[in-house]
Amino acid sequence: MRQKMVAGNWKMNGQMQEVIQLTNELKELISFNTQARIVVMPPFIYIPLVNEILGTGIIETGAQNVYPKDAGAYTGEISAPMLKNYNCRYVLVGHSERRHYFHEDENFVAQKFHHVKDHGIIPILCVGETLIEREKGQTEQIIAKQLLAVSQNDNQCFRDCIVAYEPVWAIGTGKTATTEQAQEIHQFIRGLVADINNSDAERLTLLYGGSVNGNNARALFSMPDIDGGLVGGASLNAKEFVEIVKCIN
Ligand code: PEP
Repeated sequence: MRQKMVAGNWKMNGQMQEVIQLTNELKELISFNTQARIVVMPPFIYIPLVNEILGTGIIETGAQNVYPKDAGAYTGEISAPMLKNYNCRYVLVGHSERRHYFHEDENFVAQKFHHVKDHGIIPILCVGETLIEREKGQTEQIIAKQLLAVSQNDNQCFRDCIVAYEPVWAIGTGKTATTEQAQEIHQFIRGLVADINNSDAERLTLLYGGSVNGNNARALFSMPDIDGGLVGGASLNAKEFVEIVKCIN
């Protein structure tokens, strides 16, 4: 049975009081049993505060980014060992906002992916095509390139990691991939991973991300290859996020 997950990417949002309120609301509202791992990824600076509020409950914390070196003269950056000090079990790598706004290329994404794995942190590798790439019929080619960039002839690289399919045109736009479009690409991703290692593919948690909300999550999560969601905007509203978590069967 594959691990289900709902992860909230808070991006660069929230002043301290809003973060405290959101975290307290989530803690109070998520008091039911669920099969899903529930993860929130606050801005770095709030991770200790969020951890303190959440305590040892079922909501875990992750980070939105990492620099792929343990320590050194990398002004402004945060390393995987530092994140481990704050119990971050997950780190986003390859998010489209970092690929596009910060020009992170596949090689750099791969370095981050392996760096966090080397430190026992689970990377959530984001892959996805732009609208132009989809319209040109290049979706599968782009996804394959992004995925295979991290595999580097390592046939166990997709063990202990999570992959999120996030069509760039659906992120923060209110446009969601149809359940069929999302399932088709999730199935394609699982197939690619199976070509590298079949048992890892069967166990791989695959998330869908892109304008997931309380209204569309159930249909998306009921697809055979979709194991949960990576949620941006809707994760800033505790009630909405909880509705999404409740859509995990
Ligand atoms: C994201 O940033 O990973 C994301 C999926 O954002 P949104 O849910 O707002 O589209």
